[in-house]
Amino acid sequence: MAPENPSPITAHLPSGLATVEQDIARACKEARRDRTSVSLIAVSKTFGADAILPVIDAGQRLFGENRVQEAKAKWPGLISAYPGIALHLIGPLQSNKAREAVALFDAIHSVDRPSICEALAKEIGSQKRKPQLFVQLNTGEEPQKAGVAPGDADGFIAACREKYGLEISGLMCIPPLNDAPAPHFALTAKIAARNGLPNLSMGMSADFAIAIAFGATHVRVGSAIFGHR
Ligand SMILES: *Cc1c(COP(=O)(O)O)cnc(C)c1O
Repeated sequence: MAPENPSPITAHLPSGLATVEQDIARACKEARRDRTSVSLIAVSKTFGADAILPVIDAGQRLFGENRVQEAKAKWPGLISAYPGIALHLIGPLQSNKAREAVALFDAIHSVDRPSICEALAKEIGSQKRKPQLFVQLNTGEEPQKAGVAPGDADGFIAACREKYGLEISGLMCIPPLNDAPAPHFALTAKIAARNGLPNLSMGMSADFAIAIAFGATHVRVGSAIFGHR
């Protein structure tokens, strides 16, 4: 049970982070995986520095944001104040934001169309920065959702590599809200394996333990750490 009248700053922290850490450790053990094979991305979207600072103080250094503009407003100051912070873009990217995204983020999880590949290739070349790239899959083939359809994934990954010269590090997926996530994680892992991709960005607050069982290397956890948005 949540405590009554929790303070907005301390209610979920750092106890949320500690609980998530414990759950990741347990899931790794059950899957006979080393804890170091899973990176926890603390998804801080919508939260300000007052909520983020206790998580940094607790030792967390990897954070995720879903909007370029919001991240630009929040993170440069924190990044210069706290060495070792890495920032991942987990939300959709527009081509006209590619310059800012490559400048700020250490990884981009939402590569999903040729125009983005082209814009990223150009910025990676001119900025001499090389964010880790994930191709986003739309495993549920939901029309409103970003991502490459599973049937187009092999061709898209090949185009990323051959046509745009991008180094793709892994795949990302967001299972449909009302589906069991396991088949989506399994499909993502299968497509990654046959394309020689080592990293899997999958699993959120509700399902990261299941994702770890299916090989997730990056779990994106927001509300379980920071509280409800
Ligand atoms: C917000 C978000 C998350 C984190 O979701 P929670 O349910 O709060 O853990 C993970 N991935 C993406 C792409 C998101 O936008």
